[in-house]
Amino acid sequence: MSTKCCLSRELPVEEYLIEEEPYYVPVGNEVEIFTAAYKNLLPINLKGPTGSGKTRFMEYMAYRLKRPLITVACHEDLTATDLVGRFLIKGDSVEWNDGPLTKAVKNGAICYLDEVVEARKDTIVVIHPLTDDRRMIPIDKLGLILRAPDEFMLAISYNPGYQSAVKDLKQSTRQRFVSIEFDYPPARLEKHIVAHESGVDEKMAGDLVEIGQRIRNFKHHGLEEGVSTRLLIYAGKLIHEGISPREACRIAMARPITDNPDLQKSIDEIIYAIL
Ligand code: ADP
Repeated sequence: MSTKCCLSRELPVEEYLIEEEPYYVPVGNEVEIFTAAYKNLLPINLKGPTGSGKTRFMEYMAYRLKRPLITVACHEDLTATDLVGRFLIKGDSVEWNDGPLTKAVKNGAICYLDEVVEARKDTIVVIHPLTDDRRMIPIDKLGLILRAPDEFMLAISYNPGYQSAVKDLKQSTRQRFVSIEFDYPPARLEKHIVAHESGVDEKMAGDLVEIGQRIRNFKHHGLEEGVSTRLLIYAGKLIHEGISPREACRIAMARPITDNPDLQKSIDEIIYAIL
């Protein structure tokens, strides 16, 4: 699978094409919604907790739509320049380097800005003109305005669970995107996903999902976020490698999600009750 982040901006765009169909189990009608949004040139916001399938879904859709997928993991130092591009000194000369967003616009790719609220405010401003009828990106340093071809799409992800008043998407940004809500898949589907991705059998996958669901109920009792599908898969992978199921669950579920010893103890009790 070939998702690349902004550090790989030197790569030719073909490198961002996903050649093999990613394994993705639709949970609702998200595939139809995304396809309709793409056809109508609408930008998309994938909302949901970490590890709930947003990135995998993007890979799957990019594969279906046969478009390159350029993914940028946003962080607090990410600037508009990082996205748009910059001049770099090469030997005696200065060369322009497209940033991932410019590269996506030029090549009609799908640009996925993961955890967009993490980025600095000026970064958000640069995506605005791409998200309305103008569909353009100003490249001030080159004195250019690029118009996005119809194949280009902008997608962002956003985890409502993490947001504080300081870090939140402003309405002026939110209202530029249609939103698809993600959550952990229902148990019946999550069981198949965990079995497929980790290699454990369906019975063990079912037990892991059951533990995950019970831990998720703790969310209202001090846990910031429930255990993700990703962590259930991690536990499954360790078990598949021969680590004892109890230990695998402790180190892949109980320990990562909280540092609170009381909560860890309660989670361990859930694990011991099922495995
Ligand atoms: P997010 O981007 O929301 O943080 P990911 O897409 O990385 O989460 O999901 C974590 C892992 O969970 C994926 O690598 C994949 O193995 C699995 N996964 C979650 N949901 C699905 C799904 N609906 N179909 C297939 N795999 C899934």
